[in-house]
Amino acid sequence: MSADSLPREMLITADFSELRRSVAAARHAGQIIGCVPTMGALHAGHISLMQQAHAECDFVIATLFVNPTQFGPQEDLQKYPRPFEADCDKCRVAGVDLLFHPSVESIYPPGYSTFVEVEGLTTKWEGAVRPTHFRGVTTVVAKLLNLTQPDKAYFGQKDFQQQAIIRRMCRDLDMPTEIVTCPTVRDPDGLALSSRNAYLNVTERASGLSLYRALCLARDKVRTGEKDLAAIRLAMRAEMEQTPGVAVDYATIADPDSLVELNEPQPRMVALVAARVGPTRLIDNRLIP
Ligand code: AMP
Repeated sequence: MSADSLPREMLITADFSELRRSVAAARHAGQIIGCVPTMGALHAGHISLMQQAHAECDFVIATLFVNPTQFGPQEDLQKYPRPFEADCDKCRVAGVDLLFHPSVESIYPPGYSTFVEVEGLTTKWEGAVRPTHFRGVTTVVAKLLNLTQPDKAYFGQKDFQQQAIIRRMCRDLDMPTEIVTCPTVRDPDGLALSSRNAYLNVTERASGLSLYRALCLARDKVRTGEKDLAAIRLAMRAEMEQTPGVAVDYATIADPDSLVELNEPQPRMVALVAARVGPTRLIDNRLIP
């Protein structure tokens, strides 16, 4: 058994002062601080972020907060899974030094009235379907980065638009944290891991695989020389729409930084898809090539 696989000391706190003291001590000791923001219900995708943070930093903070401001009124805030004890164990094994799990009331106290909003990037794709979502994300991430003061913060490529928006926020607001984007972790058959996959029954899970098939199809078509991106988008959409129970929100090929839909192929592109499978919304993406 390596030292890394032994159970570790991990501070678990919801207290802002205790968090700030620990961060100050780590900083004073010259440690590189990494932060992994999550909403919990941790799976191997989240764990991969923590492991990468552990490999690159001396002091790893994971945050666990189901952020109400990023959920729309008809979304799954109440039923979002919250397996706290299991999440603590997973963080400990992944090499987290401090798990910060603030209450909703401490993050948004009475009279809370300040929001961070990135323009432009947030109105496309996910933002068009979930109009208040990214305002909630950027607000809470800005607060968590202020609280944890990390050198590096880790986000998943799985939420491609989210990491692009957070990068833009940090750049525009001169926030000193380096944003690290980690690869999407998938099940062996290609389904991107997501806390929301727990909502899928066996049939829905099989239908959910059509998102990955659409992304592979886009990559294969570009690889084999197809230049007509509009035709590729139609083929992606058809791949998902011909699958029972799948309602497509979007299927596109965009510039990875601006997220603007592309008409001509370029060296770096990203294929983005979103669909509802039964009552569950799934998103996925793949960089091309
Ligand atoms: P969430 O708890 O859903 O807010 O996700 C927390 C972080 O984990 C975000 O940066 C996500 O992009 C990332 N994440 C979620 N699923 C995956 C995955 N399958 N692979 C890699 N990262 C992921």
